Amino acid sequence: MCFIVLVKIISQSSQIEFWLKFHYILTFIYSEHNTSMHNTIQKIINSHPVVTDGAWGTQLQAQGLTQGDCPDAWNLTHPDRVEKVAKSYVDAGSRVILTNTFGANSVLLEKHGLKGKSLEINKTGAAISKKAAGENVTVFGSIGPSGKMLLTGEVTAEQLRDAFSEQAAGLAEGGVDAIIIETMADLEEAKLALASAQETRLPVFVSMVFDSGKDKDRTLMGITIEEAAAALEDAGAEGIGANCGSGIESYIPVTRKLRAATKLPVWIKPNAGMPEIIDGTIRYNISPETFAGHARTIINEGADFIGGCCGSNPEFIRAMRALLEKS
Ligand SMILES: [Zn+2]
Repeated sequence: MCFIVLVKIISQSSQIEFWLKFHYILTFIYSEHNTSMHNTIQKIINSHPVVTDGAWGTQLQAQGLTQGDCPDAWNLTHPDRVEKVAKSYVDAGSRVILTNTFGANSVLLEKHGLKGKSLEINKTGAAISKKAAGENVTVFGSIGPSGKMLLTGEVTAEQLRDAFSEQAAGLAEGGVDAIIIETMADLEEAKLALASAQETRLPVFVSMVFDSGKDKDRTLMGITIEEAAAALEDAGAEGIGANCGSGIESYIPVTRKLRAATKLPVWIKPNAGMPEIIDGTIRYNISPETFAGHARTIINEGADFIGGCCGSNPEFIRAMRALLEKS
C-alpha cells in the first residue's frame, strides 16, 4: 500500500475512523514485514535444498561420553571433542550445523547440578560450532524440550519462558546465525520457546515430532501438522519442521502435509530408521544410501532443509550430498 493512498484514507476519515484505519494500516505494515524472509535464511535457501547435519549424541558417545553424562556440559569440559563432532559434519558437506546445546536449558541442567550454567554452556556451544563452521556454513543454535510437562503442572509457563530466554540469550551471545527449537511434542512449550528465542531477533525455526496417531501425523498431544503449522506461523516462526520420531519413510507423507500447510521453509530431520535393541545396544538398521534415497523423495515433496536425527552420522550426510549432487 503506497503512502499517498494511506494519506488519502486518513484525510477522508472522521477521528474514530482515523484510529480504526490507523490500526488497520499498522497491522498491514506489520504483517507485510512479518511475511518477508530473514536475510540469513534467504541467503542459504537460494541454493536449495540445504543439507543440514546429523545426530550429535551418538557422535559424542564415540568420543567418550557415557550414559548419564550431561552432553551439553562437554562444551565447557571437552570443547575440543565437541568441536570434532561439529567439524565432522562440516567436512561431510553439511551447509547448516547445530550446536551441542539441545538440553542446555536450566530446567534440564538442574538434574546435573548445573542450573546456573545455562548461559555459559550455550554461549560456549555456539562459539564452538561457529569456529568449526568457518565462513560458508550456517549455525543454528539448538533448543530442545525441557523434559517436564506443562499440562500436568510439573513446570510453569513462566519457568519455561525464563529457561528458554536464558538459553537463547547465550546462543545469541556465542554468535549463532539462527535458532532451531526442535524435538517438541507440546505445542504450548514450543510456542513459549519460540517467543523466548524471538527476543534475540534472530530467525527462529520450530520443529515438532509427529509420530503419533494411526497415520503417524500427530504430536504426542494429538496436535495435527496443520494445527501446528498454523499456530507456529501465526506466532512468527521463520521455518517449520519435523524431526526425530519414527523412521524416515513416515516423513514422506509428513513433509507433503507440512508443505501444503505452510509457505514457510520446511525443515526435515528424520531418524535413521526405527531403533532396535541388539545385544543391549540401540541400533538403527538403515544404510546411509537408503536414507539418502528417501531424503531425495522428501525433498521432492517440498522440504527445503534436510538432515538426520537419531542414528544418523556424517556418512548419512555424505551419502545425501553425493545423491543430491548427481540429480
Ligand atoms: Zn532424534
